[in-house]
Amino acid sequence: MPHVTVATASQPLQKSRKDVSMGHFREDCRLCHSRNMETFLDFGMHPHSDGFVRKDQLEQPEPVFPLAADLCTECGQVQINYVVKPEYLYGEDYLYDGAITATGRTHFLGLAKEIVERYGIAADSLAVDIGSNVGLLLSGFREQGLRVQGVDPTPKMTAIAIANGIDTITECFSKEVATRIVEEKGQASVVTGTNVIAHIDDLDDLMEGMDILLREDGIFVIEAPYLSNLIEKLEYDTIYHQHLSYFSVHPIAQFAKRFGMELFDVKQTDIHGGSICMFIGRKDVYDVRPVVGELMAAEKSANLHSPARMQQFAQDVLAHRNALTKMLYTLKDQGNRLAGIGAPAKGSTLLNFCGINKSILDFVTEKNTLKVGRFTPGHHIPILPDAALVERAPDYALILPWNFAPEIMKNLEAYRKQGGKFILPIPTPQIL
Ligand SMILES: [Zn+2]
Repeated sequence: MPHVTVATASQPLQKSRKDVSMGHFREDCRLCHSRNMETFLDFGMHPHSDGFVRKDQLEQPEPVFPLAADLCTECGQVQINYVVKPEYLYGEDYLYDGAITATGRTHFLGLAKEIVERYGIAADSLAVDIGSNVGLLLSGFREQGLRVQGVDPTPKMTAIAIANGIDTITECFSKEVATRIVEEKGQASVVTGTNVIAHIDDLDDLMEGMDILLREDGIFVIEAPYLSNLIEKLEYDTIYHQHLSYFSVHPIAQFAKRFGMELFDVKQTDIHGGSICMFIGRKDVYDVRPVVGELMAAEKSANLHSPARMQQFAQDVLAHRNALTKMLYTLKDQGNRLAGIGAPAKGSTLLNFCGINKSILDFVTEKNTLKVGRFTPGHHIPILPDAALVERAPDYALILPWNFAPEIMKNLEAYRKQGGKFILPIPTPQIL
C-alpha cells in the first residue's frame, strides 16, 4: 500500500505545501517579545481575504495560509500566528478603497478636523498618514491647512491619491522612509495610521521610524478596531491575514514605554464595528488623560487579556458558526434563493470559516467596481454589481460588511421594497 499522508488537526496537510514559504510563523509577541503565546482560536487554512480571483485564475490553485489567533500571556496582546508576505497581500491587485462608503468619508474627514482642533495643530504643520490609501484622511488635514504626505505600498490606490494632489510615497513605512520625509519636509506634528498599524509585522521598526519622524510635541495617532469589541461583540470575521494585531489599551501603553513614549489619550469611535484612537507622544510632553487609566481598569475587570476569556470567545465563535449555517441551510431547504451583499475582506473569513459557498449564495454584490466580475477568495462566488440584487431578486441577502449595514440597507431600499429580506450575521444571526 502506498504511503498516504493524512491531515490531522494539529498537522494540516497544507503546511507541507510550498505556498507556506510565502510567509512565516511568528515566534514571539510583537509588542513585548515574550514567547508565552497561547493559540485560542484556529480557523485552519484560509486564502488571502482580499485575493479576489479573476476569471482566468479560476482553474489555477489558490494559495492558502494558516490563520489562528494567539494571546500573549505576558502583556495581553492578541495577534495572528502567521504572517503572509506583504508583497503578496498588497501588490498590484489590492482593491480596498477607503473612500468608497459615505460612512468612511464622513469619519475620516471628521477625524482630521478633530485631531487638529483637539491638540491645536498649527496651520502649515506636516501631517503624515501611514497606509494613506486614496488619500482621504490627508485631504481632511489639507482642508485644515496642513501640509500632507502619504505613505502606502499599493500602487493602484496611491495613483488615485497622487491624481488628487496628495503627495504619496508608494512604499511600506520604514525608518528609511521616515528619514527621507524629514529630509524633504521636516518633522511631522501628526502622524496617523488608521486601520493600518495592525498590518505591520515589525512594530519596533515602526516606533523607531516614529522617533525619527515626530517633532518633540508630535502626536502619533493609531486607529484600530478595539479588541474589546471584537471579543464582546463576537466580531471574529475581522480576523484575517492583513490584520496581524488586535489592539487594546494596556498592551499598547506598555509597548510605548519601551520607546520613551507614552499613550496619553484614547478615544472610542464607531467605525469598523467599534475602534479606538490611541494618541501617543514623547514621554511627559502631554498630560495623560484619565480615560487611559479608566479603559485599562475596564479591560482588567472584563478579563480581556485572560486565556479563560479567550477560550470562552472561541466557544462562542463555534456556536455562532452553527447558528448561522443552520439559518442559511434552513432557508435554502425551504426553497429560498440567497445572495450576499458586499465582498469585504471580513466576508472572506466568515464565508470560508463557515463553509458558506456557491451552493448557498448564488452570488454576492459589490459597490467597488474593481471587485465586480471577480470571484470571492476560497469559494469563488461570483461578484456582481449592486444592481443585480434588485434585478435577480433573491429572497434573502446576507450583509457581509455588517459594520456598514445601516448605510447599505438605505442604499438598497428598492430591494427591500420588492420583498427582499436582509440577514445580519454578526453578532447574532438575524433576519431584518
Ligand atoms: Zn506581549
